[in-house]
Amino acid sequence: MDRYDLAVIGGTVVVPYGGTFRADVGIRDGRIVAIEDEIERQRCDDAVDARGKLVFPGGVDGHFHIGIYRPVSEDAESETRSSLVGGVTTVLSYFRTGSHYLNKSGSYRDIYPEVLRATEGHAYTDFGYHIGIMTSGQVAEIDWLVGEMGVASFKYYMFYKGLNLSSSSTAGTAYTMSDVYDLGHLYRFMEAVSDASRKYGGLGRISLSLHCEHAEIIRTFIDEVRAQGLEGLEAYSKARPPFQERLAIAEATLLADVTKCPINLLHLSSAEALAGGKKARRDYPDLDIKLETTLHHLALTYQDRHGIQSGKVNPPIRSQQDVDALWRGVISGDIDEIVSDHACCTLDMKQGGTWEGLPGFGGTSLIYPVLVSEGYHKRGLPLERIAQLASAGPARNFGLYPRKGTIAIGSDADLAIVDPELAAPVTVERSLSAQDHTPFEGFPVKGWVSETIRDGHVVFKDGRAIGPPMGRYLKRPLGAAIAPTAKARA
Ligand SMILES: [Zn+2]
Repeated sequence: MDRYDLAVIGGTVVVPYGGTFRADVGIRDGRIVAIEDEIERQRCDDAVDARGKLVFPGGVDGHFHIGIYRPVSEDAESETRSSLVGGVTTVLSYFRTGSHYLNKSGSYRDIYPEVLRATEGHAYTDFGYHIGIMTSGQVAEIDWLVGEMGVASFKYYMFYKGLNLSSSSTAGTAYTMSDVYDLGHLYRFMEAVSDASRKYGGLGRISLSLHCEHAEIIRTFIDEVRAQGLEGLEAYSKARPPFQERLAIAEATLLADVTKCPINLLHLSSAEALAGGKKARRDYPDLDIKLETTLHHLALTYQDRHGIQSGKVNPPIRSQQDVDALWRGVISGDIDEIVSDHACCTLDMKQGGTWEGLPGFGGTSLIYPVLVSEGYHKRGLPLERIAQLASAGPARNFGLYPRKGTIAIGSDADLAIVDPELAAPVTVERSLSAQDHTPFEGFPVKGWVSETIRDGHVVFKDGRAIGPPMGRYLKRPLGAAIAPTAKARA
């Protein structure tokens, strides 16, 4: 009779694209090896009692910023620990050369191994990196990054080319540390990603992610709103108005269609941005376009009581109408993935008011809790769809599926056990992050994670992380096949 290292017993299993059913899950050597009506306790070395609870595939937080404002190793440790609180077992983090992060530019042949060394041994979750190609020299490294280093996704920031143009004509170049960073650069970048997609795409999706905000429009509106003396989250939203997201989307998607480059439109924040994404799908029916939004754009508005210091982020927190439009996009199936855009940024870093404070904050500890609370309980979003948005969607989009992103025989034993009735407000302490504030403070949540399992081990329980950070680097694309034994794993 088969024995198991660990079994999850008595729970309701939520399988993306499969449905929700009562089953026990048996785990051996870090893999899921049995999904049965009943696994006897005597056949398992260890067991998790999941009676009354939901068993989700471990979350794949597809938008993260390890090391953006703090040292990479330190940030990896505290912030992937925070991920476990949200049921997240894999994070895909953005990295680029230029200001912040390692605060330097150069060849990724030198810099990327340094980033991996700094992360390895410090992550509680499995991890991978999306890479920002910032210089023309780095465009030539894309084939090497995909083929040798396991980078299946890249990033371009539409608004960097006009950064700080109103105050200094050279500030943008100083920030990106690039030779040229404009739509011409993006065109060459997309061509190279498109080539890599044709060459390596059989093993999983290769894509380019886009932060779609429009440099020139932001510059004009920031000048105007500042001149009016306005401050705060609503003013900040006004200074980066929703239509400029849509304009940036229109430019980027046209170039993607011309170069046949698979793309992800990141963190859509508004009704306008979502409409722009949907229009691009109609205009370019053969183009591979994925749409992403964040927890904070689904949960917070600029009218909430948290202020600009805690809540400043790009693109900004919007209005209640925008929140409602994004939820309609989630429920209709237009949105493919929901992420945190986690960037640990403490209050002292966020000083400087509406215009000078650093943007960004954490949210990875809330992925499943907020989706179960705001999606399932409040809006009737099916549990199976939550598993798609938080796990299977990002896993497929970024070359990890089906080893990650589902509950199936042979998949990695990464699971999030959620107590759907456990209600408590969000607090900083609960997040296990190094961040000393959260714009979600006091946000009511029903549906907290009780245990997180990664690689067949319980790594989060009773509000605490367990064991040393053992997360592994994932060379993507992982390939469509699920390896038969743990020993066969790379
Ligand atoms: Zn981001």
